[in-house]
Amino acid sequence: MKETYDLSALRHDFPALDRAVYKHPLIYLDNTATSQTPSCVIDDIVKAYYNTKANVHRGVHLLSQEMTELQEAARRSVKEYINASSIQEIIFTRGTTEAINLVASSWGDMLHDGDEIILSVMEHHSNIVPWQLLQRRKRITIKVIPMDDSGVLDMDAYRRLFNEHTAFVSVTHVSNVLGSVNPVKEIIAEAHRHGVPVLVDGAQAVAHQRVDVIGLDCDFYAFSSHKMYGPTGVGVLYGKKELLEKMPPYQGGGEMIGNVTFEHTTFAELPFKFEAGTPDFVGISALRTAIDYINGIGMERIAAHEKELLEYTTARMMEIPGMRIFGTAPGKDAIISFLIGNAHHYDTGMLLDKLGIAVRTGHHCAEPLMHRLGIEGTVRASFALYNTKEECDAFITALRRVASMLL
Ligand code: PLP
Repeated sequence: MKETYDLSALRHDFPALDRAVYKHPLIYLDNTATSQTPSCVIDDIVKAYYNTKANVHRGVHLLSQEMTELQEAARRSVKEYINASSIQEIIFTRGTTEAINLVASSWGDMLHDGDEIILSVMEHHSNIVPWQLLQRRKRITIKVIPMDDSGVLDMDAYRRLFNEHTAFVSVTHVSNVLGSVNPVKEIIAEAHRHGVPVLVDGAQAVAHQRVDVIGLDCDFYAFSSHKMYGPTGVGVLYGKKELLEKMPPYQGGGEMIGNVTFEHTTFAELPFKFEAGTPDFVGISALRTAIDYINGIGMERIAAHEKELLEYTTARMMEIPGMRIFGTAPGKDAIISFLIGNAHHYDTGMLLDKLGIAVRTGHHCAEPLMHRLGIEGTVRASFALYNTKEECDAFITALRRVASMLL
C-alpha cells in the first residue's frame, strides 16, 4: 500500500497508540466514537493550566486577555477550517449533541403547530431526540428519508416529503454506522427550493473530508472536537448569521447578556448570545492545535489514506466465510459495520478486545437504523489518519480467529 505520509513518525505523536492491551499492542479502531489525541494538543491543554488559566472576556488582567485571545484565535481557526464567512457564525458548544439541541430548542421555538421536519433513517440519536423533545412543546411531525439496502438515501422519496408544512431539514453528513456520505449539497439545494433551512450533522465528516459550509450553503453545521483529534467537551455550531440573529437565546447566564435588570435583559451580539456561562476555554484553545495538526498533514492526504485502508480491509473481510457488512454505498467513509454470521456483536467485540483490538459494538446510538436493517446491533471498526495496513492485517487475522471460535 502506498502511504501518503510518513505514518511511523506520525504515530509517535499519539501517546495512546503505544500502550498495550492484554499484552497485545493496542489497535485502535474505534475512531468513530472518538479519536486519539496528539501530544501537541495534550501539551497545549497542560500549558494553559500551568500558565494562562483565567476566565475569558471578563478580566482586565493579562492572563484573562491571553486566554481570551487563545479562545478567539481558535474561533478564527474553526471559521477558516470550515470556510465560514464570519467568526460571528462560530458558536462553541459542548459537542455535536449540544449544537443540535441548541438549534432544535431555539429554532424550534419559532416553529408552529402543524409544521413538519425531515430527518433521515440513519440519524444518530442526537439528531432525533432533540426534535422529539421539541414535540413536547410544539405539535410538529417528523418525517423520515428512507434508504436502500446499501445505505444510499432515497432522494426521490426525499423530494416527495416536502409540502407546504415542511419547516426544517436535519440530516447527517456521514452515517456513523454505514459510513455513507450523504449528498448534502443536493439535499440542501432541494430544501432551499422550498424555502426550508437545513442543519447538517457533521460529527463524522469534519475529520475525514474538507468541509466548506459556504460551498454547501448549509444553514447550520454541527460537529465535535473530540472526533477530530481535539479535546473532549468542545463542539461547534456553525450557523448563518442572518438566521442566528433571528433566533432566541438557548440558555441564559453570564457572557450572553448585554444588560440585565430584574425587569428587562438585553442579549450580547453573536456569537456570545449563544454561549451562556464559562466556556471550556482551555479545550477550545487546544482545538485550534488539533486543526493545525490536521492541516499540517493535509485533508486530501488523510482522506486518501483512509480510503486505501477501507478498500483493503473491506476486500479482505469479505474473504472470511459468513462475513456480513452493513453499508456499501459508493464513496463511503472508512467505517465498517459488520456481523460474522449470526454471532452476537458483543461476543465478537469482546474477543477482539482480548486480542488488543478496540472496536465498538451495539446500536451505535442509531436504533431506528438498526430497525431498518432488521438487526440489534453491529460490530464497528473505524479508521483514522494514524491507522496502518499492518493493523488492518492484524485485525483480519483476529477476525478469522474469532470467526473460528464463534461459528
Ligand atoms: N452525530 C453523529 C453522526 C455521531 O456519530 C455522533 C457521535 O458519535 C454524534 C452526533 C454525537 O456527538 P457527541 O457525542 O460528540 O455530541
